[in-house]
Amino acid sequence: MFKVNDNYLKLPGSYLFSTIGKKVRAYQEANPDKEIIRLGIGDVTQPLAPAIIDRLHEAVSEMGVQETFKGYAPDLGYEFLRSAIVKNDYNARGVDIAIDEVFVSDGAKCDSGNIQEIFSLDNKIAVCDPVYPVYVDSNVMAGRTGTYDATTGLWSDVIYMPCKEENGFAPELPEETPDIIYLCFPNNPTGATITKDQLQKWVDYANEKHAVIIYDAAYEAYISEPDVPHTIYECDGAKTCAIELRSFSKNAGFTGTRLGFTVIPKELKSADGVALNPLWARRHGTKYNGAPYIVQAAGEAVYSEAGKKQTGEQIAYYMKNAKYIFDGLKSAGYSVSGGVNAPYIWLKTPDGMSSWEFFDYLLEKANVVGTPGSGFGPSGEGYFRLTAFGTYENTVKAIDRLKAL
Ligand code: PLP
Repeated sequence: MFKVNDNYLKLPGSYLFSTIGKKVRAYQEANPDKEIIRLGIGDVTQPLAPAIIDRLHEAVSEMGVQETFKGYAPDLGYEFLRSAIVKNDYNARGVDIAIDEVFVSDGAKCDSGNIQEIFSLDNKIAVCDPVYPVYVDSNVMAGRTGTYDATTGLWSDVIYMPCKEENGFAPELPEETPDIIYLCFPNNPTGATITKDQLQKWVDYANEKHAVIIYDAAYEAYISEPDVPHTIYECDGAKTCAIELRSFSKNAGFTGTRLGFTVIPKELKSADGVALNPLWARRHGTKYNGAPYIVQAAGEAVYSEAGKKQTGEQIAYYMKNAKYIFDGLKSAGYSVSGGVNAPYIWLKTPDGMSSWEFFDYLLEKANVVGTPGSGFGPSGEGYFRLTAFGTYENTVKAIDRLKAL
């Protein structure tokens, strides 16, 4: 007689995007003449850049030729890609990371969900609130959390670090000491960042407490301000306390192509001296057979001169949208943040409306769809996320409608 992993049964349904979908469909059916604009999506819309597509085509052809055909990829990723990552994402920023500290994967979602496996179930996690839901949910599935309180939206045995207007959307060091600290900057959903000095405090804290930081930098490519760190390893001492997660999804449009990587420095060890790098290598080798060759080849092309230029232009396109949204909302009197180092704009709902009330209001009055902040955690209540991933034309139209309300 089998039994299920009943930790899964503790998870409340993930209603956010399905509820949004249902509401939008119902509205559209009742109002077929209305043109709805979606600024709720966290997915990119620009096609893969020409330099990436060219390399992808070439790599596909290589797979059809005896001499260049590739079978299983190396467990940890092809060396050509890992060295491009080291050179461009780390060495170019004055950070010394070795090739065997980089683990190529099919994206940051899997890595952010799977990384908790190498830690004991006794560990206590700390998360920003609001945040990307994968960190908490994957720990619930593993059995590292207590129970969910539907009235507060909080799990027991999880340390929440509220990120609200009052603290500039930056988490404060928690009173209770965590073992695993999830940080995500630039942040989804708030679009907030922290400075290198602020991040250094977290690194010092983690080293002092012998905690590990899991640093999700999936939106690193959107950073525009000079005092915002591009990698946690810019901070002194980060190699003894931090794992970094990165993705090709938002910098190069790989959401459907799938590529990411995790960095685990060899110096990173538990208090009793166990190194994490070989544990993750073991996990990768046992449970993962590598990102496809053609995708890793396309990933290398992201770092070519043409690839950098073309993906840079795509990011600039999205950030032009972000600026239009930010400035437009500000001029309409909204309290707005984000949108400068991230493709997300976070606004405070007006007149004390709840996140969902504002969702309905925008859908009905402006035919614009966004994402209720409360869907990312209880401290997101009273906030709303708009994304810069639409087309410029639709973004302008949507914001002009909001301004006219
Ligand atoms: N991390 C954060 C903070 C995200 O917002 C997302 C996607 O929206 C991901 C990771 C997922 O990245 P990937 O497409 O590489 O799985």
